[in-house]
Amino acid sequence: MPVFSHADNFNHEQVVFCRNDDVGLKAIIAIHDTQLGPALGGCRFYPYASEADALRDVLRLARGMTYKASCAGLNLGGGKAVILGDPRKDKSEALMRAFGCFVESLGGRYITAEDSGTTVADMDHIRVETSHVCGVSAAAGGSGDPSPVTAWGVFHGVRAALHQMFGSADVGGRTVAVQGVGNVGYHLVKYLTDEGAKTIITDVDEARLERCRDEFGSTVVSPDAIYDAEADVFSPCALGAIINDDTIERLKVKIVAGGSNNQLDNMARHGARLKERKILYAPDYVINAGGLINVYSELHDLPREKALRDAERIYETLHRIFATAIELGITTAEAANLVAEKRIREIGKLASFQKPLMVRGPVA
Ligand code: NAD
Repeated sequence: MPVFSHADNFNHEQVVFCRNDDVGLKAIIAIHDTQLGPALGGCRFYPYASEADALRDVLRLARGMTYKASCAGLNLGGGKAVILGDPRKDKSEALMRAFGCFVESLGGRYITAEDSGTTVADMDHIRVETSHVCGVSAAAGGSGDPSPVTAWGVFHGVRAALHQMFGSADVGGRTVAVQGVGNVGYHLVKYLTDEGAKTIITDVDEARLERCRDEFGSTVVSPDAIYDAEADVFSPCALGAIINDDTIERLKVKIVAGGSNNQLDNMARHGARLKERKILYAPDYVINAGGLINVYSELHDLPREKALRDAERIYETLHRIFATAIELGITTAEAANLVAEKRIREIGKLASFQKPLMVRGPVA
């Protein structure tokens, strides 16, 4: 399996294969870029069909984190880790701590966090072995659930897109179709309702739907019908790849702006098709950066209020991206990449970032 010439190796700085047979650990840590700061990204625990699939996933995810951190204006690079296995069967305290030892061995170049298949309790185990972990429990000094901050950023991203499309950022009287009312979607519906928007919602979890219907008077539709909703904004807050060949022609909205990761099934093709249809797309990794902003605050012991204020800046960032897209005649997804790369080029050269990357002292 090629590594240096791997199709998804976009000049990653370092890829670490971690193995501890005593505890059954097989993991890969990918550090994509540390020009802006230590590489931060979650640790995914997943039963990959093959080692090649795991490598592909970690390389792509690590690169995505570099772009997300850069656009969010954070002094963080991009990295990610994957643990190969079934979290329900293979996870143990010893395995998570063994993973923590590998994170520690990187001396702060990589900071880990929760992702699919890992939990706050796992981060607490990792924390025993290394300080280079965030998303630990509030009892262990963590910042708690990031979803309200993510949703707050998405809310301000929706406002930016409304302003760009209609000349006013006011959500009052607008209709937003929200796919998935879990952690992020629920808070988003709350913020929107508080400001006078109407919401059309869907989910596969009946209890979550009922909660939003009761609390916010949302209109409920079936999971498939959300793509046909008569609304101003479609806000994906559940799954990835939901903007695809099947769904894109059905959309009646003028804006796609939501919290899910990897919304475009094919970034180039579906980004271009949205542009052709004059549907404004708020690039996912820009609008959903509130969670990362929250984690950054945790790393620097900043209060949640600061994270919320920083998440509001997603409004300005999106406006810059929309302007770049118009100026260069490219899609907003492409423009987001350019904005991220420009910041890395400019800031990455500054001497202040040539300091050691350690952001915390050793474990007490
Ligand atoms: P969640 O699991 O709490 O919520 C997702 C919701 O989507 C659930 O209620 C689930 O029942 C629903 N769902 C699943 N399949 C569906 C379907 N086919 N149609 C409609 N609804 C469906 O997750 P979350 O934390 O709210 O995250 C939502 C998305 O946002 C994910 O893509 C996640 O990666 C991304 N994200 C989350 C955060 C965060 O802070 N939580 C940060 C950045 C990005």
